[in-house]
Amino acid sequence: MKIVLASENKNKYYEIKKAVEPIGIELIFGGDFEKPLQVEETGKNYKENALLKAKAWASSTGLSTMSDDSGLEVFALKGLPGIHSARIVLGDDSNRNSWLLNAMKEKTDREARFVSCIAVFFPNFEKTVICEKYCYGTLATSVRGDAGFGYDPIFIPEGYDKTFAELGDNVKRKISHRALAIKGIAEMLIPVIQYVTERTLDD
Ligand code: IMP
Repeated sequence: MKIVLASENKNKYYEIKKAVEPIGIELIFGGDFEKPLQVEETGKNYKENALLKAKAWASSTGLSTMSDDSGLEVFALKGLPGIHSARIVLGDDSNRNSWLLNAMKEKTDREARFVSCIAVFFPNFEKTVICEKYCYGTLATSVRGDAGFGYDPIFIPEGYDKTFAELGDNVKRKISHRALAIKGIAEMLIPVIQYVTERTLDD
């Protein structure tokens, strides 16, 4: 079954694509569409944003869609940057990492968690499946490592002493918030895919 990933983020695409292949999902990269949709993330939480993106891409492509809304929550900053992680300051990932390290300068509590909420929407059946998971850790005091994207160079997952950007994709694929959400959604999707396939074949 083909499902469109409602995102132009190649890192997210590769992380999700491999994990859903074994359950018979061929993930199509949103960035490969001629005019990838820009959806304003106006939701008040990850779930609302994930659904907004999945439904907007479904109505634009007519296909089943999957979207991930994610972010980093820092406890000493009352959950910031949270759902604003991608845009908390202008510029690129390196500007955002500098902003966060600066905001954490005087803080002793450096605990944080990544959140990933994955939503899948089947427009022909008006059915949604949603799974939200977390990866807990602490913030480093400087950027370290080259792998990954976003806040990976400053996030040290629980049980490790290196950042995600130092640990690389193999570790991230096992323990990250997105890895856990993908695993959860894949389990939830097995019966749904069977249902949708049977109904589609009947038509
Ligand atoms: P969105 O889900 O596209 O709204 O963006 C989420 C933002 O959260 C990204 O642009 C990153 O800044 C951050 N983020 C989410 N997941 C990760 C991750 O696995 N590593 C590093 N940063 C992440």
